[in-house]
Amino acid sequence: MNLAVLPGDGIGPEITRAALLVLEHLTRALSLDLTIEVHEIGLAALQRTGTTLPVAVLDACRRADGVILGPVSTASYPPREQGGVNASAALRIELDLFANIRPSRTREGLQHWSRTPMDLVIVRENTEGFYADRNMYSGSGELMPTPDLALSIRRISAAASTRIARAAFELAGARRRHVTAVHKVNVLSVTEGLFLREVRAVARAHPDITYDEQLVDSMAALLVREASRFDVIVTTNMFGDILSDEAAELSGSLGLAASINFGERHCMAQAQHGSAPDIQGQNRANPTSLILSSAMLLDWLGRRHRQENFSAARRLVEQAVDAVLGDPAKRTADLGGTQSTTAFASELCREIDARASR
Ligand code: NAD
Repeated sequence: MNLAVLPGDGIGPEITRAALLVLEHLTRALSLDLTIEVHEIGLAALQRTGTTLPVAVLDACRRADGVILGPVSTASYPPREQGGVNASAALRIELDLFANIRPSRTREGLQHWSRTPMDLVIVRENTEGFYADRNMYSGSGELMPTPDLALSIRRISAAASTRIARAAFELAGARRRHVTAVHKVNVLSVTEGLFLREVRAVARAHPDITYDEQLVDSMAALLVREASRFDVIVTTNMFGDILSDEAAELSGSLGLAASINFGERHCMAQAQHGSAPDIQGQNRANPTSLILSSAMLLDWLGRRHRQENFSAARRLVEQAVDAVLGDPAKRTADLGGTQSTTAFASELCREIDARASR
């Protein structure tokens, strides 16, 4: 299996190095058939090639079995005409990665901000919604008829709503069998109404799975108050993006927030957080998010290609992360610890090796 790895900007290269070290140890410990190619993107690629996402890298991602994408400093990119291409958006669109799966759970011994322990997954639609670059055949979903008037257009389609709902119910079937659709139908009755119509149709086809609905604003409060009541949350693009950062922070830190984006043929691991320019180059970023995301990618590949050792790799990483984070002396700064990015990654690899040899 071949992975294309794109380190990205800011803390991207630091946390990607940590994820690659973990992959190296997993490959040895579990005899994974895995080869890795690292490709330059982002501000470094812009300087060298004139674009943050060279066409050759996009092609390499299309050919690869899976992609690992580090965070990208999109807020610092020049306009698209000057080479600033958001790799995260471009890959989601080009590879049709419609489902963004974002789990958040509390861990034994690790402080969390949610009032209850939690173990939930946000299933976020990735290809439309309030994202200006995803909505139009031609042109942008944002426009400015006059200098003092700006509009944005949000697309919601039956097809995209159905396929994200199916992904959520399939996932819930392997978990606690509960799906909550998050929406804002009280003020966006047409678009949110269409989204709910499709999710309800999928819910009717899964009578064995409990289904309920929640308005997005009260959902933000309920996550703080009683996150334990949720299992799988399915929602549109922007709501999913915002709620998943909230859920991750409630579970302990944004630095723990793993995610994959998948479609019919491709899967991309990606940290939920951004490129954290405020701590870039200081060797203090928490690499857990990208490491857990990479482990989710291995599991996706394992299920797709029926290679059990790839799924075993995810379980091993989850157990090793739990064990290392359980010790306050081994945590990174975002979790109140003193460990550097590299020291944390080495500790995790030691734990993986020890567990694999038992
Ligand atoms: P951010 O997620 O980068 O940072 C928010 C806060 O969380 C910062 O204080 C940061 O130091 C901290 N943080 C984030 N990840 C961390 C980690 N792994 N370990 C420790 N602390 C961590 O959000 P932002 O500051 O709003 O955005 C910075 C840049 O990232 C912008 O250019 C933005 O466009 C981009 N961004 C990219 C992605 C992506 O690549 N998918 C997602 C969100 C934001």
